[in-house]
Amino acid sequence: MSPESSNETRYLGGKVALVTGASRGIGRAIAEQLARRGAKVACVATTADNCAETVAACNARTEGCVAYGVDVSHTAAVKELCGAIKKELGGLDILVNNAGVTRDGLMLRMPEDDFDRVIAVNLKGAWNFSQAAMRPLMKARGRIINISSVVGVTGNAGQANYAASKAGLIGLTKSLAQELAGRGVCVNAIAPGFIETDMTAGLEADAAAELLKSIPLGRVGRAEEIAATVDFLLGPGGDYITGQTLVIDGGLTL
Ligand code: NAD
Repeated sequence: MSPESSNETRYLGGKVALVTGASRGIGRAIAEQLARRGAKVACVATTADNCAETVAACNARTEGCVAYGVDVSHTAAVKELCGAIKKELGGLDILVNNAGVTRDGLMLRMPEDDFDRVIAVNLKGAWNFSQAAMRPLMKARGRIINISSVVGVTGNAGQANYAASKAGLIGLTKSLAQELAGRGVCVNAIAPGFIETDMTAGLEADAAAELLKSIPLGRVGRAEEIAATVDFLLGPGGDYITGQTLVIDGGLTL
């Protein structure tokens, strides 16, 4: 039997996972990893079309993965979408709140809109999905994973909005972990450091070189390394972990 088809490596067989921001980068890597484990993945991004490639890659590993489009900040639309996913895919066992945006700038000049939008997508978006998916997740004794960031722990000049949203996610994670522990639902956060994706592609060469010097492991991270951490938390290794934030940053914050 190939490793991809053994029961042990496909331990999410029969489970339904919802991943937001699945069209590219970290979300896509997570969706593909969960499909590799046998889960049916609902791949969510701003439009379903954006997720077409992710879904094709997921369906090459398992069956029944579907693309959905929604703006995660729209509460009513998220509620409707979670109802549809539950119906179409037959339940909901795993929620990964990964969708996120940046609108960087120093506080002195940051437009109110840039603060509101980043909070609405990164923090309210996770709140929207967590609430809309809560009943099926409780029924399944499922898992929630929120993709935060190291800057939610350390703060970062020029990212007051983003850091606040990511720190908020850590507070949301700890609170939900306490609310849902009695229902057998584990809720954790992952705080990636600098990961090579579209989000970080715009960094100037000088700034990137400077950043590299501050990473003890001497390199930036890969989206697959965040997906591997999600995989760990969803597997037996995560059975007794809740309310925690796992920092995956090559030692950046040491
Ligand atoms: P990315 O920009 O490559 O992908 C972001 C994803 O979120 C896309 O699929 C996009 O469609 C989706 N998205 C954005 N706004 C949305 C909205 N309103 N509604 C629905 N979907 C929306 O980013 P990435 O680097 O893959 O980051 C993924 C997550 O990891 C984000 O939450 C980000 O803050 C976090 N993170 C990234 C890094 C990094 O270095 N790349 C570090 C720490 C944390």
